[in-house]
Order: sequence, then structure tokens, then C-alpha cells
Amino acid sequence: MHRFFIAPEQISGQNAYIEGEDVKHITRVLRLQAGDQIVVCDGCSHEYTATIESANPNRVELRLNEKTQSLTEPAHRVTLYQSLPKTGKMETIIQKCTELGIAAIAPVVSERCVVRPEKDWENKRQRYQRVAYEAAKQSKRGVIPKVLPLQPLADCDFSQYDLVLFAYEEEREHMLKQALRDAHVEAAENIAMIIGPEGGFEESECAYLCAKGAVRVSLGSRILRTETAGMAMLAMVLYELEG
Ligand code: SAH
Repeated sequence: MHRFFIAPEQISGQNAYIEGEDVKHITRVLRLQAGDQIVVCDGCSHEYTATIESANPNRVELRLNEKTQSLTEPAHRVTLYQSLPKTGKMETIIQKCTELGIAAIAPVVSERCVVRPEKDWENKRQRYQRVAYEAAKQSKRGVIPKVLPLQPLADCDFSQYDLVLFAYEEEREHMLKQALRDAHVEAAENIAMIIGPEGGFEESECAYLCAKGAVRVSLGSRILRTETAGMAMLAMVLYELEG
């Protein structure tokens, strides 16, 4: 059954509506009509089977039937702090990490980022949010991961996390697998992962993050590109957690 995200405000009792781009998709591409069934997700892990009551070029009216909990969300919230990569890579990172189950993506500026933030970064953030939306739809997520505003690494507040993992290319001994076991990751509801840019981290950044309580870990004996590191690390963390 075709699946669409709607905002909780678009639901009122047993009724809901869809507006915007998805209307064109429903009426013109899929050619769905009154009486057809779809699935809608409120972005908060609730799904409903819904019957189309009426459709016009601007709006599709729905009658909600059964409500269920989305079964695709990981039990742990993992947020990726990704140092700004070179142009074009952030889209891939957001898309793949959304498929894999990331909860949020926090783009950060660290010392060796070659790309400098532009003034209209908010436009970019909105574009990235759209990438997360499309990937969440495709991978049947129950939540659309949030793309947070760009911030300097030094301004990041990690106090809300139970575990902060910092992938450091210079780390040789403390492997992620061991770190997850030592930290009893299964008890950590909120986890942060920090990834450096193409040029890696400065030693001073490593010292700063460790002083903030981040656990420095190795992702293995091979050096991964910045766009590979986050998705590989997320897959490893969720593999450990989801069995
Ligand atoms: N230019 C650096 C590599 C940077 S890789 C060098 O040649 O050493 C980009 C980022 O990916 C790193 O800052 C780190 O966060 C992560 N990363 C890549 N491979 C890693 C590994 N084997 N262990 C830990 N972190 C890694």
C-alpha cells in the first residue's frame, strides 16, 4: 500500500488531509481515487490505514481506519554530528543514514572543514530536510530525521546524550565494538556519533571532545572517507543494539 507522511496537525479525530506535492503524486501519478486505501504516518511513529474520501488537485481528504505503532524505528535514538564535507556529499550521508535509522543529523563546522558555511545555509538545510523526507518515505521510517542548523563543533551541547562516540582516525586500540560493550550501550537511549571532515580532526579537537566526555573510538584498521564513516558507524552501532 502507498505510504505518505502527514503532520500531526493534519489529523483531526478520524479525519485527515494531504496537501502539497503528495496530492499530485496521489491523483496524477498513482491515479488513486475515492475509496482507495493508503497508509499515512504522522512522523511520530504512528501509522494509520486510511481511505480516500475525496480528491481534488489541491487536497486529498482521508478517513482514518486502524492506528498502529510503526515497527521500523530503532529503540535507541542515534544522532550524527557530521563535519561539513565537500559539496554534494551531505545529501548522500543524509539519505543513507536515514535508510539505516538515524534519528537526527547535526552538521558541524570543525577546524579542517574545507567548505565554509554560506550565509543562506538555512536554504540548504531545508533542501537537506527534503532529502531526509524522501529517504524516510522510501525506507518506510516512522519518523523523519531532523536536519539541525549548522553549528561550530565547539558550540555543540552533548549534555542530552547518554553516550557520545567520537570516531578518531588516530585511535588504534579502542575499537567501537569494545567501546559499545564497555559503555553498556543497550542502556543508552540517546547516542551521539561525531565524524570528522576529509582532513580529519586536529589533536586539540580530540582533546576538547574527550574533555567533554566523548569516547574516542576506532572504526577499524582502514581509513574510511568522511561520507562512509557515519553510515558505517551507524550500521555497526545499530547492529550491536538490534541484534
Ligand atoms: N585524512 C585523515 C582521515 C579522515 S577520515 C587521515 O588520512 O588520517 C574522516 C573522518 O572519518 C575522521 O575524522 C573520522 O571521524 C572518521 N574515520 C574514518 N576512518 C576511521 C577509522 N578507521 N577509525 C575512526 N574514525 C575514522
